[in-house]
This record gives sequence, structure tokens and C-alpha cells, in this order.
Amino acid sequence: MTAIIIDGAAAAQALYAGLAARVQALKARGVTPGLATVLVGDDPASRVYVRNKVRACESLGMHSEHRALPATVTTAELLAEIAALNARADIHGMIVQLPLPPQVEPAALLQAIAPDKDVDGFHWRNLGALAAGTPQLLPCTPAGVMHLLDREGVAIEGQRAVVIGRSQQVGKPTALLLISRGATVTVCHSKTTDLAAITHEADILVAAAGRPRLVTAAMVKPGATVIDVGINRVDGKLVGDVDFASVREVAGRITPVPGGVGPMTVAMLIANTVTAAERHAGAAST
Ligand code: NAP
Repeated sequence: MTAIIIDGAAAAQALYAGLAARVQALKARGVTPGLATVLVGDDPASRVYVRNKVRACESLGMHSEHRALPATVTTAELLAEIAALNARADIHGMIVQLPLPPQVEPAALLQAIAPDKDVDGFHWRNLGALAAGTPQLLPCTPAGVMHLLDREGVAIEGQRAVVIGRSQQVGKPTALLLISRGATVTVCHSKTTDLAAITHEADILVAAAGRPRLVTAAMVKPGATVIDVGINRVDGKLVGDVDFASVREVAGRITPVPGGVGPMTVAMLIANTVTAAERHAGAAST
């Protein structure tokens, strides 16, 4: 079997088409959705991620504002920046690009962002709402994973799903979303023993470990849907957590890296920003 390749770039473009109409509707009411991006230091990968987010905003006619701060910035200085953006009526969403330098405590920053502007979905209120089954703003990568599964028509209810990775940003929220849709979910991590035996049971396998080519063909159930969240740089090339060349011969569907989950993460961030602006506009007109 050779797997169907899930085209994340095409899925993102389709999403942008729907978002463009929502942006125009907001603008007709005098509201331009605004996203602020905060980047600390000069990590090249982070710079690329932020640039992609800014470009996506601009292509839809949204407002974007970028803050580039030196790697020596203090937590207090960042908190002041976030407080100023929280107070702005024309900024509906903000993100602080991770990772942050060691002197900055990420949790303090992420919890300082007003939950209704937390378009990364990392604030405990948003993560808690997701855990409680009443999602508000969803974390972008997990939301993108679910969007790809739905767009492909992959059955979720009653299926066995395995998520490799238990991070707050990716693994855990993805598992919660799959649970909420009726999958039977196993979450694996670095302490998991016999990973291959568990992944081999998965109808849906989500790899989010940050370990290049961790998932090999022998670990995949024939016909499974394999979603590769990983982004790793090996010899100057981007590779996922899945050994794409061998796994595509076993899986039913598979996402490539790049061009799979990555574009969806950006599209979901923009979708969250538009949603936040719509809620703000709704609240302002009531
Ligand atoms: P993270 O915070 O480092 O978490 C990695 C998780 O994988 C941890 O739970 C870790 O287990 C687990 N893990 C590590 N090695 C493992 C192994 N050999 N077997 C099983 N589990 C293992 O990373 P993250 O932020 O979740 O990101 C994961 C990957 O996705 C990274 O490559 C990142 O660059 C990528 N990413 C991509 C996008 C996108 O848009 N495509 C967005 C976000 C992240 P422990 O908890 O036990 O340490």
C-alpha cells in the first residue's frame, strides 16, 4: 500500500479562503482583526515561524504588529509589553514565540496574556476549558491536526488513537481533542516501554516527540492514518518524527514534513485571531 499524502498546505489555503470572508465582514463593521507577535532573541527557526504568521495576517488584510526583543530581555520587561498589548482594543490576539531564553519563565508570560487574546491557546483558562470539554481558544497545532483528520474524512469515534508526546502545547491537548471526539486514546512519552507495540495498535497515530524519524514502518498498523507533527533539522534538512519514505508504504494516509501540520498551525492561529476579533466585536456591539 502507498499512503495518500495529506496536503496541509492545500488545507490551509482552503481555510484562508473562508477566513478572508470573515475578515471582510469584520472590516465592514469597522473592525480590523489585529495580531501582535512577540519574538525574543534571534533564533532563526523562530524568526521564520513569526514571519510566516505575519505574512498570513497581511495576505488576509489583517493588522499585524511585531515586537522583536533582545535575548537579554527580563521577565518584567516582557510582562510590561504583554500588559500594554492586553490593553489595546485594536489587538485581538497575541503570541509570544517559544522557546524563550533561560532567564525568562514561560509560564509567567503565557498566563499574563489575557485569555480572550490568547490565540496560541496556552493560557491555563483555555487549556482548562478544553479539558472540561468546553473549548474556547484551542491550541493551534492540535486544532490543525483535528482539522486535517476531518478534512480527510478520517473516522475518529470508536477508533484507537495513539499520541506520541505529552507536552502542554501539543501532545496533551491533541489527546484531549481525540478523546472528546470518541477515540480511545493512549498517550506515549519518553518513559513509555515498548512504544512500537502500542503504536502498532493505532488507527490514528500522531507523532509529536521532536525525535527525527522515530516512527518506522514496523511501528505502524497497515492502513493507519499517520500525522507527523515533528519538525527536526537534520543535515540542514527538515524532517519529521516519522520515517516518511518507509511509513508511506504501510500507512493509509500520511502527512509530509514540511507541508503537513506546519501550515495548519499557522492557519489555526489566524483562525483563532479572527474568532477573537469576532467575539470582541460582538461584545462591543451588545
Ligand atoms: P516537547 O515539549 O519537547 O515534547 C516532546 C514530547 O515527546 C515529550 O512528552 C517527550 O516525553 C516525548 N518524547 C521525546 N522522546 C520520545 C521518545 N523517544 N519516545 C516517546 N516519546 C518521546 O515538544 P513539543 O513542543 O510537544 O513538540 C514536539 C515536536 O513537534 C517538535 O519537533 C516540535 O518542533 C514540533 N512542533 C511542530 C509544530 C508544527 O506546527 N508542525 C508545532 C509545535 C511543535 P517526556 O514528556 O517524557 O519528556
